[in-house]
Amino acid sequence: MNDVQQVDVIVIGAGFGGLGAALTAAERGAKVVLLEALSYPGGCAATFSRQGYRFDAGATLCAGLAPGQLFARWIDRYGLPLHIRPLSPAVELRAPGWSLSMPPTRAGLVAALVAQGCPEAPLLRFFREQQRVADALWPALDAAGRLPPFDGPGLVWALKSGLRLIPALRWAGRPLRAVLEATGCLGLRPLRLVLDALCQITVQVDALDAEAPLALSALDYLWRGAAHVDGGVGALASALSGALQQAGGEARFAARARGLQRTAGGWAVEARGRRLWAPTVLANLLPQDVAALLGEAAPPQLGALAAPVAEGWGAVMRYCGLRDDPGLPRGAHHYELIGDPDAAFVEGNHIFASLSAEGEAGRAPAGHRALTVSTHLSIARLRGLDPAGQAALVSGVQQAMDTLLQRLAPEVAGAVERAMPGSPRTFRRFTGRAEGLVGGVPRRAGWSHYRGLVPRPVAPGLWMVGDSVFPGQSTLATAIGGARTARAALGGGATARLLTS
Ligand SMILES: Cc1cc2nc3c(=O)[nH]c(=O)nc-3n(C[C@H](O)[C@H](O)[C@H](O)COP(=O)(O)OP(=O)(O)OC[C@H]3O[C@@H](n4cnc5c(N)ncnc54)[C@H](O)[C@@H]3O)c2cc1C
Repeated sequence: MNDVQQVDVIVIGAGFGGLGAALTAAERGAKVVLLEALSYPGGCAATFSRQGYRFDAGATLCAGLAPGQLFARWIDRYGLPLHIRPLSPAVELRAPGWSLSMPPTRAGLVAALVAQGCPEAPLLRFFREQQRVADALWPALDAAGRLPPFDGPGLVWALKSGLRLIPALRWAGRPLRAVLEATGCLGLRPLRLVLDALCQITVQVDALDAEAPLALSALDYLWRGAAHVDGGVGALASALSGALQQAGGEARFAARARGLQRTAGGWAVEARGRRLWAPTVLANLLPQDVAALLGEAAPPQLGALAAPVAEGWGAVMRYCGLRDDPGLPRGAHHYELIGDPDAAFVEGNHIFASLSAEGEAGRAPAGHRALTVSTHLSIARLRGLDPAGQAALVSGVQQAMDTLLQRLAPEVAGAVERAMPGSPRTFRRFTGRAEGLVGGVPRRAGWSHYRGLVPRPVAPGLWMVGDSVFPGQSTLATAIGGARTARAALGGGATARLLTS
């Protein structure tokens, strides 16, 4: 293997899953090369430049940035040059005749819902249950050793929180509807609006169908160190790739992995005309994309992993340049807008619109702001159409997004000077994700989501990271998922060997 560079770990893809995996492997002393097809990191959570603006490609809001949480710890450890701003409110929800600025605490949310006419007693029952589950599950996203394979402190933590979780285990596999019924909250409309809106952007399904413990903990998303990263979420991805270098790893950009072959007890990967070999590969790709790289050698279990991902979503986008009108909020601001609360929160009936802060360095020409707007689109629906039908569907959804923005946030819509479209095709082209599938596996009620609790290789030495595997979607979840999978792949101690053998 003279012309082949030999390393310990190859990571394919510099999304947050790949970044978390590569950084952790490098910190554990492995010789790591991270290959990224694009010339910048972040994938679905990258920030790209166009026409003098820096637009967040997909993700706009990041959790895990409060002191002691995963991203904050990495920022401190490597002295990453980032400016993190608190958000107030984290999100502003609007529907026709209704609005709610998300309070910074659970008690604040209960008070706001009571002020909107919800009776307090059932709300308190619901949020007590919600808090119990969230408090038990969220700290697992603070440190890689708290997810299998546990390290010593992680195991102690897991045993303690496991005990705290026991009363909530009765909800596992069941829909959130069951919790709403049991607590007497099913008919509380303002609560349902909040739950539907938050569930659609976190667990990727409406509240009634969402798997209860995952949905209950995801409801804490905005209270767990969610903040604004100056320069866009991609600035955090770039900073983490700098951290990787500090830790002794190497990130190669414009280096698309073009083939993956099992050879000599490891894996050979071709990228940018060079051949790399490693005993361990961590693939930050969808299962269908790993299967495509492997060709006929793809193991059948990739098909099983790919099936629920294929039932997921694509995204339709608007990347807008705005005049900085005086009517706009001065800080970074996130709007979640709902057209018809009784219809599905998808396809332009529900949009998430994120505005950069006034004067935020590099985001927009002077006197302007950058805005990223997104909505969900069913890939199954798109798949069933011919190319003309697909184009018509996407452009209809874009039209609906523009109309909703004009209707519910006229001060924002009125300041738009230019708008660039994005679609599943855009995500496929830029991130390489099959069919432009984003957001991982929708968390509908059922036990299947817990299958990946313990990371296992899909073939000897080949591991998956990213939002299609546990713990799933979001910048934080993929980063911690990547980190814990790297620990498992490199032998994360006695517990790891026990659990992964
Ligand atoms: C519209 C939208 C809005 C979202 N909003 C939020 C939000 O506000 N907050 C939040 O936390 N999450 C949000 N998410 C979810 C979050 O962005 C994703 O769950 C997460 O970023 C996915 O990371 P990943 O590592 O799994 O994959 P990806 O981000 O897809 O990264 C994979 C990387 O691999 C690279 N790649 C692909 N093929 C190859 C190859 N052959 N060789 C080398 N490199 C390759 C790609 O270029 C990409 O950089 C949003 C997602 C979308 C689509």
